[in-house]
Formats: sequence, structure tokens, C-alpha cells
Amino acid sequence: MNNLEQYLTEHVTKRTDDFEALEAFAKEHRVPIMEPVSMNFLTQLVRIHQPETILELGTAIGYSALRMLDANPAARLTTIEKDVKMYELAQSNIAKHQKESSIVQLQGDALEVIAELVANEQTFDFIFIDAAKAQYQRFFDAVQPLTKKGTMIVCDNILFKGYVVDESKIEQKRLRSLTKKIQQFNAELMQNPNYHSSIVPIGDGVSISVKLNK
Ligand code: SAH
Ligand code: MG
Repeated sequence: MNNLEQYLTEHVTKRTDDFEALEAFAKEHRVPIMEPVSMNFLTQLVRIHQPETILELGTAIGYSALRMLDANPAARLTTIEKDVKMYELAQSNIAKHQKESSIVQLQGDALEVIAELVANEQTFDFIFIDAAKAQYQRFFDAVQPLTKKGTMIVCDNILFKGYVVDESKIEQKRLRSLTKKIQQFNAELMQNPNYHSSIVPIGDGVSISVKLNK
């Protein structure tokens, strides 16, 4: 961690004991939940944007879903997770936080579940993409029918440990092709005429896109 990252991490607002317990669980079991500084920023975006409806790709243990809902308790959140074990862990965490009535948990591959949401003609004010990085372009394209003017799309991990800017740090071949995919995604996102986008270098890198028209 460089000095700036350390400073930001040290100064991030303290969480409740319940949220810190989830962070500790994630650390112990190596669940890649969002980092404190970028998580804090995501909740701030939710406070600013005040979405009534939120879609999340990648529930894991339900941490970011619960944090987003905490930032706007009036929202209704739909979250997709393919791993059954994660889905069940999230279910129990959501129950502990008594948020079952605000969260719809869907289990399955995001692309398949998104197709169902599209078939139901659902739309969302806020979409958080935090699932398999190799598929971000597909996820982004797939959710388009679920968006409207003003929809905010936030993607996590778009700087991928800094690999996207410094490929010399990459040792494994698999990571190289994954990095290429993320680089391509970022380049396309920043040129997409339907969105105003910006990349924020906190946590593992966050992009924010706001849709211009329907
Ligand atoms: N948003 C969570 C962390 C998500 S980690 C938080 O910050 O609290 C990424 C999750 O995406 C993992 O649990 C993984 O199982 C899930 N995932 C990966 N590929 C997926 C896919 N194609 N469809 C749905 N979920 C997927
Ligand atoms: Mg992430």
C-alpha cells in the first residue's frame, strides 16, 4: 500500500460492529469484498444519487449490498450471485440485518439472470458490477436494456491491482489476458457516447458512468 492509500484507509469512517464483523469474516475466508475506501465512496455515490432501485452483480456474502442499503434504506436492491455457498451466506447475513424485505437475492450466472430481468422489463436507477472481471464488457452490454436516462453504473476492480497501467508487474499468462480484457473494457467505456464516465483510482479502481439518454 502506498502512502496515499494508507492515509485514505486510516481515515475512512469507522463502520458499525456488524459491518466490521462481515469485513473480518471476508478477510478470514478470503472473500474479495470491496476495499474500505472504495466501499465508502460507493455508499457516498448512493447517498448522492438516491436510487430507488439498485442492481448488483456479485453478492458474495452480502456486504456491499447491505452497505448500499444502509446508505439509502428506502432503496430496493436486487443482487445476483452464481456461487450457491456465497448465496446462502449472504442470505443469512441479510436475515441477521433484517433486510429481507428490501433485498431480492437471485442465484445463477449473471448473464442468465439478467436475461430474465430484461424479459420482465425491469429497470434500475443504479447498477453495481462486481463479478467476474473477464466478463465486464458482456455484463455492461447485457444490462443496457435495464437502464434509463440517468442510470448510474459503477464497476469495481477496473484498475486490477495496477496491472492495467503496468503490465510488467504481471507474471502469470492468465492474468495478462485478463488485464487485456479490462484495458479494453475501460477504453470502450470511456469512449461510449451513451455515458459520461470517469475512473477513480481508489481501492482496486472504480468507474462511474451516468447514462445520457434512454
Ligand atoms: N460485491 C461483493 C463482492 C463480490 S466478489 C462485496 O463487495 O461485498 C465477486 C462475486 O461475484 C463472487 O462471490 C463470485 O462468486 C461472483 N461471480 C463471479 N462470476 C459471476 C457470474 N458470472 N455471475 C454471478 N456471480 C458471479
Ligand atoms: Mg470488487
